[in-house]
Amino acid sequence: MSFDLETDATNTWCPGCGNFSVLRGIKEGLGDLFNKDYMKKDIVISAGIGCHAKIFDYLDLNGFYGLHGRVPPVLMGVKIANPDLTVIGFAGDGDILNEGVSHLIHAAKRNLDATIIIHNNRVYALTTGQFSPTSPKGFKGKSTPEGSPEEPLNPLHLLIGSNASFIARCYSGERKHFKETFKKAVRHKGFSVIEMLQPCVAFYNTWDYYNDRVVKLTESDHDPTNKQLAWKEATYQEDRIPIGIFYKEQRKTFTENLTGPKPTDKKQRDIKKLLKKLS
Ligand code: SF4
Repeated sequence: MSFDLETDATNTWCPGCGNFSVLRGIKEGLGDLFNKDYMKKDIVISAGIGCHAKIFDYLDLNGFYGLHGRVPPVLMGVKIANPDLTVIGFAGDGDILNEGVSHLIHAAKRNLDATIIIHNNRVYALTTGQFSPTSPKGFKGKSTPEGSPEEPLNPLHLLIGSNASFIARCYSGERKHFKETFKKAVRHKGFSVIEMLQPCVAFYNTWDYYNDRVVKLTESDHDPTNKQLAWKEATYQEDRIPIGIFYKEQRKTFTENLTGPKPTDKKQRDIKKLLKKLS
């Protein structure tokens, strides 16, 4: 049985954009999962603001289009209302590593059972080329014509420091690898994040840069239960950019740790009276 996730929305990404790999990888990955453990109706998606966020319109799934950087709290609300749902968020580097960075940190700390893909093109693309939190030092864009004076933020170090329980990096040029990693992230019980190296052909074309440097982490050369090793591998290197699962651990999730009335108590979720009062 296959699931059709196509929508009627016209795709407006630039030809050659790294976002296409994400879309295809997600469709194929979810198709595989649907065939096994999951049902389409049990999945809820959300997205922030940016080129990445258009993916929301290209996937025929239930969801909530959030505000800039607010994917984690949206997913948290969904999960509190119904912990049985599988929740997946899409965020950009400018989106979740700037305006929404505190939400990301706290969702990781709480071990929210959610999967978030960070489309990291290292530039504000929708607003046509300003430097983002992950742009390299010296990046020349619309807001930094003389070059950015700041060191880039390393998303994986941020996630390790915030206690995320599943931390991975993928690359748009390695779609099958992304698909398999994405499936593992969705199956992970806890907060799983994939940093997707996603070239923007219009404002920061990094295809050649990554093609020359990306290497896959394998089980024989990396132990994903070792946090110190994960930190070391995630450290920026000029000539070698590892992709794969850097770190994973199993611990109780946010909703499992919640005390008080159970979110699944239907009585607690009946908002008809409240809606009547407000109407
Ligand atoms: S501007 Fe960049 S990120 Fe946005 S659609 Fe075009 S290539 Fe993709």
